[in-house]
Amino acid sequence: MRERIESALRKGDAEYTEIRIESAISSWVNFRGEQLDNIGSSKTLGGIVRALVKGGWGYATFNELDDLEIRVKEACESARLVGKEESKFAEVEPVVDEIKATLEKDFRAISLSEKKSVIEEYNKIILGYHDKIETSNVGYSDSFRKIWYANSEGTYIEDERPDVVVFTSATAREGDNVQHGHESLSGSTGFQIVEGFQEKAGIAAKKAVDLLSAPPVTGGKYTVIIDPKLAGVFAHEAFGHLSESDFVYENERMKELMVLGKRFGSDILNIIDDGTIPGQLGTHRYDDEGVKTRKNYLIEEGILVGRLHSRETAAKMHEPPTGNARAIGYQHQPIVRMTNTYIDKGDATFEDMIKDVKMGLYALDCIGGQTSMEMFTFSAAYGYMIRDGKIAELVRDVVLTGNVFETLMNIDMLDNAVKWAPGGPGGCGKGAQQGLRTGLGGPHVRIQNVIVGGRQQ
Ligand SMILES: [Zn+2]
Repeated sequence: MRERIESALRKGDAEYTEIRIESAISSWVNFRGEQLDNIGSSKTLGGIVRALVKGGWGYATFNELDDLEIRVKEACESARLVGKEESKFAEVEPVVDEIKATLEKDFRAISLSEKKSVIEEYNKIILGYHDKIETSNVGYSDSFRKIWYANSEGTYIEDERPDVVVFTSATAREGDNVQHGHESLSGSTGFQIVEGFQEKAGIAAKKAVDLLSAPPVTGGKYTVIIDPKLAGVFAHEAFGHLSESDFVYENERMKELMVLGKRFGSDILNIIDDGTIPGQLGTHRYDDEGVKTRKNYLIEEGILVGRLHSRETAAKMHEPPTGNARAIGYQHQPIVRMTNTYIDKGDATFEDMIKDVKMGLYALDCIGGQTSMEMFTFSAAYGYMIRDGKIAELVRDVVLTGNVFETLMNIDMLDNAVKWAPGGPGGCGKGAQQGLRTGLGGPHVRIQNVIVGGRQQ
């Protein structure tokens, strides 16, 4: 394969040319209620050529390797048609590398019927949990992708990227009151992560049923402690996307707001994007431009110190490339994306954080959210009131809203361990590229004066 790709690259006459080829085998199983809703498998092969001439990009995608040289010529030709200015593309040392996946239990060797029976058991646990369980959505998916990446500068990388997901979701109903509970897990280490999920399926069902009798939270302004999952979602959705340089570069208001050196929070606040953390969902040794991933501080001790780049945005903004150009598949060009984004730990304990809170809220997990520029709205899966320094009753309909910059300033305590969200189906969406795997993490984070929606008093 290497010889074939490199000989095709030599036919290119652009300033820069790259070829990315991807083979993928995948399978999936999905139950909805008692029905087996969807089951199947697929095998695909395809690739993309990207060429740069005078700042203009030309692309050619393909599903056959036979005409690779023609595709290279086509991409170079397209690039010449759009290129009108000077190319800006940050320098990177060429690398040659091969990354082999290590699977403890290889899902490719497990039959679809065995995968189905494992998932069916979890589905039965949920449906049989309680007579108030109305329905379920329980499933599994896996994929094993191999990427061949090479460019005209001499970089050649082979990278294996396995992915496994199990998800369980329960819906409970009592009259008009409908509540959900979910538990999911994804990872790159093999099928064993899917096994032994019986207890989690039971927890999903229990959450849905317990929430039926929980009152909605009373709306107001509270001292809120968010759990590591919500902290990770906040770091990613509310702040991380604003650190993607293509977005900053194209947006005048963001250029004014996201000024390096500006204070965004107190000294305890560190927000990091790191594509090198072993075993995390957004971890790869190289991004999809062959740039080594690394630990990038976005906020360090409260100060904005960095942002995420592709080779092109790095050159345009005169900053170093960060290894954040990612594509969800061979049909797509790499764009600036996060890898594993987290708020770093502090030094408090959870007990320290709640002990002086007279009336507050502990919000857990995330079931959805929206952001619009610097404004955010996140729905926690559930919460507990904090009364006189102690965790009190379970509450539902916990919606947190605010301005991201004000909220960052209002973070006043962090506990002393970063935990990573377990992952699940889906992932980060940007433009036409949905479902990118990213890691979300953080400690428990205490924030003052958070607006909590819910039933008004
Ligand atoms: Zn996202």
